Amino acid sequence: MTYIVGLTGGIGSGKSTIANLFMALGVPVIDADVVARDIVKKGTLLLAKIVDHFGEQILSENGELNRAKLRERIFHHAEDKIWLNQLLHPAIRAEMLRQLDRQTSPYVLWVVPLLIENHLTSLCQRILVVDVTPETQIQRAMQRDSNQLELIQNIMASQVDRQTRLQFADDVIHNDADLTVNLPVLKQKVLELHQQYLQLAHAQSV
Ligand code: ATP
Repeated sequence: MTYIVGLTGGIGSGKSTIANLFMALGVPVIDADVVARDIVKKGTLLLAKIVDHFGEQILSENGELNRAKLRERIFHHAEDKIWLNQLLHPAIRAEMLRQLDRQTSPYVLWVVPLLIENHLTSLCQRILVVDVTPETQIQRAMQRDSNQLELIQNIMASQVDRQTRLQFADDVIHNDADLTVNLPVLKQKVLELHQQYLQLAHAQSV
């Protein structure tokens, strides 16, 4: 199996931003959020099960899953959240493992927001954490999604705290500085890590 670098960080920390820099170097990226979206696309068995449970009103006009509605629903109904998680978590995990297994590149970047919370760290050979202060997380997440403060704080409370996350890290990218000034620094850091991961992957394969 290919060498797996798990990339994690709290909400709004910059995981996708950093993953895109690795992608620009040709590194394959498997993103848990993308997998989670793909497995409930229109026409899937899982979407049919969700509609059976919640009714047609959980769909948008175009027949896709209305994610905002679903989020709202499970935010207020704990039993529905449990039901949904029991349906989706094993399916997401199985699909991610299938995709990881298919990789033929020296290493793969596996982006998982809840890598630590969902006990997936043992599947990774290396863990890269994107680290920012809670203040930066709130500011960027609010700006991006015009999310309410309470919702973001709730999500942050459901994730491990900064110190705990950093204890799992083999490598850390600090992402508090604004991209307008710091992009070259981030690119350089990603390039250094990329070279290091290629070496580690090579050492593992011989
Ligand atoms: P989530 O887990 O919530 O999906 P994420 O960890 O993938 O988030 P991103 O989507 O990469 O985080 O970044 C969150 C927001 O902050 C985005 O709008 C992104 O453009 C912005 N952002 C990320 N890094 C920086 C930075 N260094 N300077 C300014 N804006 C940034």
